[in-house]
Amino acid sequence: MKAVSVGEGYGRVNLIGEHLDYNGGCVLPLQIKNSIICELSENPEIDCISIASDKYQKTLSIEKLEKRDDWADFIIGSCLFFGKKYSIIIKELSFKISSTLPLGIGLSSSAAITVSTLKALNNFYKKNMSDDELIDLAYGIENIFVGVGGGIMDQFASVLGNRKQALYLNTLSRSYELVNIFDDYNFLIIDSNTKRILSNSEFNQKKELCLSAAKKMDLKNLCEKEFISEKEIKLLSDEEFKVCRHVIEENIRVKKAVQFLKDDNPNEFGKLMTESHSSLSEYYGVSTDELNELVNLSNYFGALGSKLTGAGFGGAVVTLVKNDKVEEFKKMILENYKKAKFV
Ligand code: ADP
Ligand code: MG
Repeated sequence: MKAVSVGEGYGRVNLIGEHLDYNGGCVLPLQIKNSIICELSENPEIDCISIASDKYQKTLSIEKLEKRDDWADFIIGSCLFFGKKYSIIIKELSFKISSTLPLGIGLSSSAAITVSTLKALNNFYKKNMSDDELIDLAYGIENIFVGVGGGIMDQFASVLGNRKQALYLNTLSRSYELVNIFDDYNFLIIDSNTKRILSNSEFNQKKELCLSAAKKMDLKNLCEKEFISEKEIKLLSDEEFKVCRHVIEENIRVKKAVQFLKDDNPNEFGKLMTESHSSLSEYYGVSTDELNELVNLSNYFGALGSKLTGAGFGGAVVTLVKNDKVEEFKKMILENYKKAKFV
């Protein structure tokens, strides 16, 4: 069947500022070349919708737009939320998903699939949806309908980011600035090829700790703070203190990192990436042995800094390497970490 409308959604790599977008902090994602394409075609032979993806074998025939608790939820949710927004009954449509973006490794395939589907629907129904509306709708689908996900970073990066400029986003005020990345250095992404373990429940547990700590300190968002006083420390459990420490210090690191990016200082930027990783590992507790190993190997083989990217619990690492060292660097990593894959 011939596609009558197409939408594309890009993935992102977060350079610094992990677990901050649900704590009212600042983040620094960079869009990547890998994307998801949604092709939409009319199909009068089906009552509702059908969905196929090159990442899954079976074409799904959906009879009712309701939650199924599988990968199709991102497309079903998009149809449901888009239909509701514009008072359209969505039916007799086929969705075909194709992707160059690895899923579930922290490069935001969930936001990319949602954005690509919404763009395809927007083109098909000629609705002129604004970028802000697209971001809000995609965010709602992931958070309310699918029921996972953090803050607004991934949807913002997919819609408003680009590959040459990092998106410095204040997730509370939603103000943002695009900042040029380094000319002579590359942000490389390495997939550790380890499945993300227990990620949803662990993720929600961390979120709960942030909420309870904020409540005890009478804050709406942890990132309102720049330090925790002795008096406040006494209010917090050990676990709460550790997540707070990461969140508050990470937010300060993001602001410094942006300045180093503007000042063209990759050395200092790289140091902050590695500090971020240490904090994610020691205080936030979302790293794994494999991610730590990749970070250590990367820094040993000449990267200026490295960290896990995305929520953690497995997945990918981002590392800053000088352009003329990239080939040698890749060779050394692949020799020393056999399962590694450069994205
Ligand atoms: P990330 O966003 O880091 O890639 P998530 O766990 O948030 O990881 O989202 C991954 C989920 O997104 C997959 O489990 C699947 O439901 C959906 N998804 C991503 N890419 C595709 C694809 N190409 N085809 C179908 N579903 C996809
Ligand atoms: Mg995701």
